[in-house]
Amino acid sequence: MFVPPVPDAVDLVLETATIMSVLAAQRYARVDAMRRELLAEAVGRGAGVLEIVERSIRLELASAMRVTEYAAGRLIVQAEALMRRYPHAWDSLAGGRMTEKHVEILVDLVDAVAPELRESIAASAVALAETESVGAFRRGLRDLIARTEAKTLDERHAAAVRNRHVAVDQGADGMGTLLLHHPIVELHAIYGRITAMAKVIAHREGETRTLDQVRADLAADLLVDGSTDCVPTAARGIRAQVVVTVPVLSLLEGDGRPALSHGAAPADPPVVEGVGPIPLETARRLCGGDAKWMRVLTHPETGIVLSVGRERYTPPAALRRLVTWRADRCMAPGCGMPASRCDVDHQIRWVDRGETSLDNNAPLCRGHHLLKDNGDWVVRQIAGSGGAIEWLSPTKRRYVVQPERRVPVFVTAAAGDGRPPPF
Ligand SMILES: [Zn+2]
Repeated sequence: MFVPPVPDAVDLVLETATIMSVLAAQRYARVDAMRRELLAEAVGRGAGVLEIVERSIRLELASAMRVTEYAAGRLIVQAEALMRRYPHAWDSLAGGRMTEKHVEILVDLVDAVAPELRESIAASAVALAETESVGAFRRGLRDLIARTEAKTLDERHAAAVRNRHVAVDQGADGMGTLLLHHPIVELHAIYGRITAMAKVIAHREGETRTLDQVRADLAADLLVDGSTDCVPTAARGIRAQVVVTVPVLSLLEGDGRPALSHGAAPADPPVVEGVGPIPLETARRLCGGDAKWMRVLTHPETGIVLSVGRERYTPPAALRRLVTWRADRCMAPGCGMPASRCDVDHQIRWVDRGETSLDNNAPLCRGHHLLKDNGDWVVRQIAGSGGAIEWLSPTKRRYVVQPERRVPVFVTAAAGDGRPPPF
């Protein structure tokens, strides 16, 4: 006799979450219908009236729903975008296949794109939203947009960089915030350097300040005096390392060399770990020999790794780099912690005869590392997947986290078809 599966507690939560998505879609549809109806009544009352009517609709909705006018305005904008520009996203929400949060991110990010690019991006965005958690979706969509816009990335960056500035934001209790608006790659390098220095200081005997406090003191000292005398010898000369991935083709193009005859497709933009695509000009400069940059060159068509830099050959360091480069982030579901700030975890633990190898290592942030080692989750790397990690929850649910990039799998002549790898 067939016995239907009994829903567990997680199923019951999921059910309400799905219903909320379905209802959110209906609310968007009705908000848009309401706005259309009230706008139609104002037709013929002159162009200047339209703005007043829009404001009136916003106030009406805010008063009726007892929310702020700002919230009502957001709702109206989102509803209009979903009903008019992104119907597939609305369908997905109405079918409970993505959450309201996904929809908000989708509309905000895709609306900011040039109109002619929106349709193609929106189609891929819906597919992404239906599989990824909110954080991974936001990053994935930003990446997708940046790749689509790559052709104009250099010009847009050149325009944006003119707006660099420093400002002071007055706070309460005699405090404030110093704001440095500057190219993001350099900002990550600055943050990485003071963090590395601060860690050495914070671990000194008798040090009572927190890491955050030491970091702030260091930054202030360096900016006020141009130097700091509270850095122990061990932390002197620390330089930040930023991992930049540059498709080989990008470097060749515009370099006075002939373009590759089959290289008709535009190359992917250079990418900095944890930051995203950067302008090609910046990447060229970074690859010019400055030792603090780790250069990862990728094959122009396959995107797989050709080199992780020439300076180190010792397996542990090189392996660690390859493992973190492949994942880019903590490999727990939905986690956004950059890989460079994670532990490299052995899926099969060292004491259980786990190997130190690409097939057994992945970065996990401290919190997820603790959970994996001490919680009831079962975590393993899926064999032959190129680094995908499977998480089995205590309620027996399965989540798969894909790595950001692929690493080539070299087959021996005996196991493969006898031909050498394609490069
Ligand atoms: Zn994590």
